[in-house]
Amino acid sequence: MYRLPEFLERALEGAATVITADPRQAFAIRIAWAERQRTRGHTVWPTPDVLPLSGWLARSWARAMSEGDGSTVEALLTHAQERTLWEQAAQDGATELLHPHGAARAGLRSWQRSHEWAIDLRARGTGTSEETRTFLAWAAQVSQRMRAHGWIDGARALWRCPLESDVNGHDGFILLGFDDEPPAIRELLARLVDRGVNACCAPKRAGQTAGARLDLATVEAEVYAAARWARNRLELNPDDRLLIAIPDLAQRRGFVEYAFADVLEPATLLAQSCRQARVFALEENLALDRYPVVTTAIVALELAAGRLAFDAVSHWLRSPYLLAGTSAAGLRALLDAAIRRLAADELDLKTLIAVLAGVDRDGSDSALIAALRSFAEKLATGPHTPAEWSAAISSALTVIGWPGERPLESAEFQTVEKFHAALRELAMLDLLLGRLDLAAVVRALRRLLEQTPFQPETGDTPITITARLADPVLSYDGIWISGLHAGNWPEAPRADPFIPWQLQLAAGIPEASAAGMLSRGRRTLGTWLASSPEVILSWPRRLDDEDCDVSPLIAGLPDGDAQLAAPPTRSYAQVIRESAHLERIVDETAPSLKVAGRHVADARTLTLQSLCPFRAFAEQRLGARVLEQPRPGIDPRTRGRFLHRVLEQLWSALSDSKGLQQHSIEQREAVLDAAIRAARREVLERPRRWSHATLDIETERLRGLLRTWIELESTRAPFRILAVEQEIDCMFAGVPFGLRVDRIDELADGRRLLIDYKSGQASSRRWYGDRPDDPQMPLYALAVEQPPAAIAYAVLNAAGCRFEGASAAPAVVDGLETVADWPGQLREWRTVIERLASEFAIGHAQVDPKRDACITCHLHSLCRIDELHARSVLVHPDE
Ligand code: SF4
Repeated sequence: MYRLPEFLERALEGAATVITADPRQAFAIRIAWAERQRTRGHTVWPTPDVLPLSGWLARSWARAMSEGDGSTVEALLTHAQERTLWEQAAQDGATELLHPHGAARAGLRSWQRSHEWAIDLRARGTGTSEETRTFLAWAAQVSQRMRAHGWIDGARALWRCPLESDVNGHDGFILLGFDDEPPAIRELLARLVDRGVNACCAPKRAGQTAGARLDLATVEAEVYAAARWARNRLELNPDDRLLIAIPDLAQRRGFVEYAFADVLEPATLLAQSCRQARVFALEENLALDRYPVVTTAIVALELAAGRLAFDAVSHWLRSPYLLAGTSAAGLRALLDAAIRRLAADELDLKTLIAVLAGVDRDGSDSALIAALRSFAEKLATGPHTPAEWSAAISSALTVIGWPGERPLESAEFQTVEKFHAALRELAMLDLLLGRLDLAAVVRALRRLLEQTPFQPETGDTPITITARLADPVLSYDGIWISGLHAGNWPEAPRADPFIPWQLQLAAGIPEASAAGMLSRGRRTLGTWLASSPEVILSWPRRLDDEDCDVSPLIAGLPDGDAQLAAPPTRSYAQVIRESAHLERIVDETAPSLKVAGRHVADARTLTLQSLCPFRAFAEQRLGARVLEQPRPGIDPRTRGRFLHRVLEQLWSALSDSKGLQQHSIEQREAVLDAAIRAARREVLERPRRWSHATLDIETERLRGLLRTWIELESTRAPFRILAVEQEIDCMFAGVPFGLRVDRIDELADGRRLLIDYKSGQASSRRWYGDRPDDPQMPLYALAVEQPPAAIAYAVLNAAGCRFEGASAAPAVVDGLETVADWPGQLREWRTVIERLASEFAIGHAQVDPKRDACITCHLHSLCRIDELHARSVLVHPDE
């Protein structure tokens, strides 16, 4: 159970108001108070008046306005309204900024700080730096707009807040977490006391433990040691409440969560569902837009407002927070795989709907497509005010089933509530933003979400893990503070960038000087030592490859129990691994192929069988294909299809070398142009994936290449084209193959040449050997009815145009290598191809890659080649 310090418990029992510096402190106190009431056997009790300063100020201001005491005529701005005012000032300012929103946030923080510390920004010496002059210009614009509209911001309202409605009937006020006691807080206390109220900052806690210092090798070792310490403590006393501070929790969140689950809740590492906070809770605010349920909503809106990267859309499409997102998860994954073949690297909602409708021919997910259409229609209006958009967005999201069909878990429910609160905040920006189109309002909402820190409430958990090196507020049975090396503690000064440094120093802002931070560090250390009977303060000896020193603030503390730093006992994963009885079964043979259907294999089958038998089995028989990834520009496969189609059209018109010779240059251009236009319509423009500009670039690139190619063909000895894109059925080792030969030429002497067009890299050296890298052309040579005298790649790429291949002597075209014993070469190829086909047929599926074959393969996780390599290194370390 959380424990309240004595003074706080007394204050709450006396119905005092507790105002905290931070919402999390207020939350922790309310939880601790509730636990206290339960242990006393109460089932109901009055809600304690505990709230953060901003919440208390808003309440007091609203009460004063409703009571109409005349002193509060201005409207108090919300946080989002203040931020928007500053953003607009930064955008309108004379200085061009790279990141105006970040600068505006910093400006607002400086404005709040200057009021908190009663700094007169008009004092002498102000405005000497460019930063300060820029800040003052923004502040002047913000102030002028606030005056003109009768608004007031929180920083100034704190000084002027009428307290009458607050003090009546209250026994006291405690301000908690304001250890630096800036003038604004001192003034507030003084005004409360003037009105006869008992008001004070939280008193210093009595008594201190000695504390214990512990050094560990690394930050990771600290985290694991703290987790083991917590586990030992809870095994001895399950009612203990422990606090663990990890200063860089935000950067290490994943590791910290894993380490604590590993030590304290190992079973949850295997669980499918989200981890519900039970033994430990991470106290760390994330921006609201980083919660998956909110990400789903904002990405839907961004998709409706403009274009998004394919990866973001793909992830969103598979979200469980969409219509039937859980029950249709498998279907959505299939849809995602299908649209990858058709979608561009960026999509808008209209294009996505068209692509989805194209692949969902049987209508299995027609409900989603209809919902997306309706969603797009609902948002295709405007411009509207933020309030009107807020209502429209809320209603549009319900159309696409947001936030999903399954009952929300508590944390998700709270997150959805917070998103609706953010929409209400958006609605309050009418006066500041005016009428906006959809894209602008979605940008404003995204910024609002980014700047809304949030953490779902988790209730009472034995271990709290926090990033804050600050007063823990509650009392704990044990506290472990990690990361206390000299570079981290006391914290380095962080002077305000906009307020002149001398003014910060004169005001006594701790962050402005090393002395201020040292004094704060000493104070906080005292608070830790007074907040628990056991306090461990640890530091890492190394951090990111650098040696660290112990913080001078803890160097004098007694050494902690060395056992706590002892290396970990076996982890849960190790225990499972060690309890296993491993049995080694080598099974490299798949069931032999049952030939059914016309085409069981193609040229790629043999290529894969040759490169790695397992890959051929996995891809050709198990269907383990790589997911396509839309990329900017036209993908190589489509480029290849475009080239093939143009050449097919071209030779249909020209027929042979005589036809080619008979066409003048202008006529050839006209034929080429017609072929390109027809192929472009057929291959590149259906469905529309690329912009006209992209298509024009590709078209002109190909036109240039083909002009060179036609030139090359016109220098050849006479030939006639017997076939283009000819389909061939054939059989090797009992396996039926389906092949498509790009082109078959016949020369004047009756000899034949097989041609395959290549727009990328191509080399005929890949045809030879026991395990050829690419047996496609040899396979074609054996598959055609009349054996050819030559096989060749027609290479058309940026490096130029050429024929490359092998020929019986004399060479059929220039550029081919002549083979002295051509019939012998064909026999050799037949032996290789029959063997590869036979191995494929009998299920030879050994993980046996050729050198470098794994580099371009996507099946590492299926064949586990990396584990095989690791094992062979372990077993034969010297090889
Ligand atoms: S990764 Fe290597 S061993 Fe594994 S299937 Fe691919 S080529 Fe074969």
